[in-house]
Amino acid sequence: MNFLAPAGTPIDLADIWRSLHASAVGAGPALVGQMRNISGLPFAVPVSSARAGMTLVLRAMRAAARDVVRNEVIIPAYTCYSVPASIERAGLRPRLCDVDPSTLGIDPSVLARRDFSRVLAVVCANLYGLPDDLPAIEALCRAQGVYMLDDSAQALGARIGGRAAGSYGDAGVYSFDKGKIISTMQGGVIVAGPGTIQEEIARELDTITDASRRDALSNLIKLVVYSTCLRPEFYGLIRRLPFTGLGHTVYETRYPIGRLADFQIALAAILLTRLDTLNSGRRTQAARLTDALSDCPGLALIQTPVEALGAYSRFPFRVLDPGRRMRLIEGLNRAGIGATGSYPKALADVPEVMAVIPESDRHCPGARALAETIVTLPTHAYCPPDYAGRVLAVVSACSA
Ligand SMILES: *Cc1c(COP(=O)(O)O)cnc(C)c1O
Repeated sequence: MNFLAPAGTPIDLADIWRSLHASAVGAGPALVGQMRNISGLPFAVPVSSARAGMTLVLRAMRAAARDVVRNEVIIPAYTCYSVPASIERAGLRPRLCDVDPSTLGIDPSVLARRDFSRVLAVVCANLYGLPDDLPAIEALCRAQGVYMLDDSAQALGARIGGRAAGSYGDAGVYSFDKGKIISTMQGGVIVAGPGTIQEEIARELDTITDASRRDALSNLIKLVVYSTCLRPEFYGLIRRLPFTGLGHTVYETRYPIGRLADFQIALAAILLTRLDTLNSGRRTQAARLTDALSDCPGLALIQTPVEALGAYSRFPFRVLDPGRRMRLIEGLNRAGIGATGSYPKALADVPEVMAVIPESDRHCPGARALAETIVTLPTHAYCPPDYAGRVLAVVSACSA
């Protein structure tokens, strides 16, 4: 049966072949130029993953702050587990700020009430490419004298307040992992504005090594398989194979921190030439899903800030009854639609995070409500024309 993967970007074998050719002649400058254009920032460096980039940026912030007391990093209480893992890897301590389930993001008025005396930085999330209230979070960080890391791992090409997601605060990261806006299997980019942070990041980058030939080859093989298996004709077969690790969320701190392999840099540059087309296709699907689901009782759509332009790596919404939500996710999967329950837990309930946060951070009702109600739907270019209608049919069949 045809099956729509939860997220992804179509890649042709010809793209991979061209990337191998291009890497032989050096594609680094092209990608850096493209990322400068997209972010509007002068400094862009490809790295082995976004979590590696976050670790490097946080170490740079620690060095730039020159204040040993500031070792806490405030993160949304519901985001990718790689975020607290990258903080641990940088030798810092995560602190959780509850999120507003109706927007998915940190509520700036909740953030404003925090004690910032030991805080080094605040990290946002821009989940599924929907920008958080980045102007407000940035203004708050400036007023408190703390750094801001704009985590746009899922939000490449999203915009708010006339600026790119990823360009707010002092530095940003984008991810090229599986299921992000574009994919080179693994990979990411750090961006930063001018100034001391950029200098400290450059110093951190001097300490990292090139991608090993082994990692590069392994990513090349995985990409060939991935580009084929993302097709709806094949995804249904491979999604159940346990060794792919598909759909699992793990807390892992032992990831490589290095440069991105040349062929992945070249592939990212090729895929970025299609970024606007890819994202406008995702926005079209998101608009159709919004229309289809907006009047369904028991469902809540996510509120995006006015005049924000989302990237929609997936389409998130909420099913307010947790039992119905589980049935709906199963029903959609049976119908060949890769719906997911997103990250299974609020960070306060992830054992590795629970062990290092103070008691006061465990109170995050918004994040727990989100973990119990969120559903994501695919938005990628393999979604067929009648897709929103098919989703609505399953939703209607699976009512309370
Ligand atoms: C995927 C993701 C990351 C980590 O990106 P990698 O490239 O996989 O390291 C960080 N933050 C968020 C919000 C993510 O979705």
